[in-house]
Amino acid sequence: MVIIALPEKIFREYDIRGVVDEDLTDDGVRNLGKAAAVTFLRDNIEEVIVGRDIRLSSERFFNVLAEGLLSSGVNIIDIGVVPTPVFYFAAKKWDKQGGIIITASHNSAEFNGFKILRGEGTIYGEDIRELHSIIVDGRFREGKGSLIKRDVRDEYIDYLCENIDIKRPVKFAIDGGNGTAGIVALDIFRKLGLEPVELFMRPDGNFPNHHPDPTVEHNLIDLKAAVAEGGLELGIGFDGDSDRIGVIDEEGNVLWGDALLALYARDMLKNNPGATVIFEVKCSRSLDEDIRNYGGNPIMWKTGHSLLKKKMRDENALLAGEMSGHQFFSDRYFGYDDAIYAALRLLEIVSKREKPLSDFYREFSKYKSTPEIRIECEDARKFDIVREVSDHFKKTNRVMDVDGARVDFEEGWGLIRASNTQPALVFRFEAETEKALIAIREEFSRVLEKFKLDTSSLFDS
Ligand SMILES: [Zn+2]
Repeated sequence: MVIIALPEKIFREYDIRGVVDEDLTDDGVRNLGKAAAVTFLRDNIEEVIVGRDIRLSSERFFNVLAEGLLSSGVNIIDIGVVPTPVFYFAAKKWDKQGGIIITASHNSAEFNGFKILRGEGTIYGEDIRELHSIIVDGRFREGKGSLIKRDVRDEYIDYLCENIDIKRPVKFAIDGGNGTAGIVALDIFRKLGLEPVELFMRPDGNFPNHHPDPTVEHNLIDLKAAVAEGGLELGIGFDGDSDRIGVIDEEGNVLWGDALLALYARDMLKNNPGATVIFEVKCSRSLDEDIRNYGGNPIMWKTGHSLLKKKMRDENALLAGEMSGHQFFSDRYFGYDDAIYAALRLLEIVSKREKPLSDFYREFSKYKSTPEIRIECEDARKFDIVREVSDHFKKTNRVMDVDGARVDFEEGWGLIRASNTQPALVFRFEAETEKALIAIREEFSRVLEKFKLDTSSLFDS
């Protein structure tokens, strides 16, 4: 018998994600369910939570995935269509060790995918690739599971409302990007007495208005217009499955993940002096300085939400965050990335602040920086190049190499790292002055010369 496996390339570092009908077929997804079942049962997990996002293919994939799990003897708690963080919430509240959420996060409509929870957190790396080899080898089990439906929505809404303290009705706009946020967010705001200006809150798997990713500035155009027109205090956007948050202040400036994390950290540190905050290597030097200034313990760590979550548990950190808008709260919450909860924490902070958010924006953005720059580079070479660049700079500069190489210069830093998800090298630069920012990039470009890459985009912005 020929076993229909999903293509190996869609088993990525943090999740499984591919194009519907091209990469993701019914037979392939059914077999993914069977393979996941093998790993659940091996860890004595007999009952798992399964949820799905609002994509047009999600229900269809739910049905075949469930067939695979049930025919292997795993029981399913079907929580229906939910944001990814609501899926994590169900697992925490009901004390379940396993689950699968069907979602392609912020990808466009033709994609779908799977994030798998097993044991302490979402699986990544080898644990994801193992599923592919179980399918290829046909190492399945037979059994007979059962399925029950259970609603988590009300429990989630009540929990969030009871655990947030908004001092006054903040004026803001909200953009759901036609993703899953609309399923719960509006009910939460209303219950808290908030009346946001609503944009694209109706779930629609075609994503008819813009790409469901608020961490790409182009997708914030409507939100900026709504904030400007209404004279509002801020705007908040969610990605397709509501684990990424995007924020603009009252002037339309974007508060990227590092700025947001600094804001959360200042507030959290008032009640938890000395607490640890974890962030990825792409974050501004401002963040490290800000956390120290407010009495916290900053730790710079690897990019990738699964890796940050693991580090957070290892260090007992209360907060963590990424530039990509994933913000993790263990302070008063469960430690996973929930953009709806992050929105509430932000509204809580704004409701207590006397000054506008733009004031914080200017204070935080004291350095000049580039956005993330990607340069194409074959997978086979990318790690070697990073190692060589790192070794080169280590002779003269301080280099932090937890993830790629972040090279410190007198007036700033430059980062090179290999992308975990694409054949690409990722760069970012920051410095005290424009002049220094150019000088650091020139230095990198010289060191990269011998690899014959097209480095012109290093200087694009
Ligand atoms: Zn997402």
